[in-house]
Amino acid sequence: MPNLLQIIMYLVNKIKWQNSLIQLLNDYITWLEDAGDRPPKGTDITKLDYNKLTLDDPPKVVKIERADYKYLLKQAVEAGKPIKPVRRHKSSSEVPEHVRCAKCHAPHDYLYKNNGVHGQYQCKVCSALFNSKNHYSKDVILKCPHCEKCLEKIKQRSEFDIYKCKNDTCPYYIQALNQLSEEQKELYTVAPYYLKLRYVYRQFNLKLEDIKSYGLIESPVDLSRIHASPRLLGEILTYHVNYGLPAPKVAALIYDIHGVKIGRQTILNYAAAAGAQLYTLTQHYPYDLSDQICGDETYIRVGKKWHYICYFFDAKNKIILSQRVSEKRNTELAIRAIHDVLDHYIASEIPEDLNLIVDGNPIYKLAQHFLAQHGLNFDITQVIGLTNEDEVSRQYRPLKQIIERLNRTYKGNYRGTHGFKSQNGARAHVACFTACFNFLRPHQSLDGEVPVRIPFVHDDAKTMPDKWIRLLSFGNSVLQYTD
Ligand SMILES: [Zn+2]
Ligand SMILES: [Zn+2]
Repeated sequence: MPNLLQIIMYLVNKIKWQNSLIQLLNDYITWLEDAGDRPPKGTDITKLDYNKLTLDDPPKVVKIERADYKYLLKQAVEAGKPIKPVRRHKSSSEVPEHVRCAKCHAPHDYLYKNNGVHGQYQCKVCSALFNSKNHYSKDVILKCPHCEKCLEKIKQRSEFDIYKCKNDTCPYYIQALNQLSEEQKELYTVAPYYLKLRYVYRQFNLKLEDIKSYGLIESPVDLSRIHASPRLLGEILTYHVNYGLPAPKVAALIYDIHGVKIGRQTILNYAAAAGAQLYTLTQHYPYDLSDQICGDETYIRVGKKWHYICYFFDAKNKIILSQRVSEKRNTELAIRAIHDVLDHYIASEIPEDLNLIVDGNPIYKLAQHFLAQHGLNFDITQVIGLTNEDEVSRQYRPLKQIIERLNRTYKGNYRGTHGFKSQNGARAHVACFTACFNFLRPHQSLDGEVPVRIPFVHDDAKTMPDKWIRLLSFGNSVLQYTD
């Protein structure tokens, strides 16, 4: 009989062995993650600082007046008061040769050092004061809308630069400071970066024109010239898109039922061609929208990399409004997706109370900043975290659940494709899914009706393949019309 100590030793050894096994498994998981085989992680919302992303008023943009020093010098001669280069008595008052007046471009001979330490100069020709580092050679300067002092660029990022008003007597700053609780004041003395008390402006390096253009989707085949009959094409799309069956299964089904041999790649090509043909229709159809629009991101595999899809969705009327695919989950993706949503209102006008419900990712707030700078205004409600701790999350939780369900539906559909070779292929698949979702797929919550009923598509067609054919022909006419 083993004694108690022996039993304990046995157990301790066993635990040690289990621990080493766990360590080994952990190492394996890390290795897998490094190999990029795991889907990307969501944003760690605990690491984000929402307070810093409040939307401030736009800054005052002041155009710098330009003058020509040669013309000014000539004028001065004509007026009998010629301006001579600055006479310097000390070498410390020398102005470096590369510095020129920011306003009239006068060379360094005509410039005074105004305050040696801060690098400010004054021009003898036009009497402009300028800083060689700050707004030298710029066309405009940005001023704080609250105190009119020049904003300072504090950060430069790939998508935007951040400007801040550093004036300690700025009314914006003073008011924010006065509103702090005792606890916050204490925090501010030790870690001021946790609180946003000063006026901040983000200047985006993106252009709205570039954001708008997404381009049509390239079609791998011309659907008007394929071997399959329209009926067969409709059946293929029904199996593959409505039911999310993978291409090999669709091929097997078609062979079993009709005795027709069709390759899997051909099936994928047909679906992509349908997506290309229906994309314009899904983006420009005059939808009837509710006030419950929410957005979310999901990821798909394109080649060897993970790509993101940013969806916007009318949760009440079950209409997908945006379907942007991008290599990066960044502000640009959010701007593009939200712009698609706003585009649906352009004909009528963006409702004053338009409120988009999204997750806690800061890209949506940044997108709001960018679009507000272009006169496109709307609200953003961020439902942060998975628990119902705060009032906002509780109120909007059902909406988030609806979009998460949409996400799962898409994932189920996407699984049948085994990833995409190109972004164009991914876009085509997403467009095809969207068209099916908006126009062909009946919804339980809509009493078994489709979200958007097009009389031409639905009135005379009895079966799903027939509806696909009619939808494709409708989509084609829209495509011709918008060209
Ligand atoms: Zn000057
Ligand atoms: Zn200010």
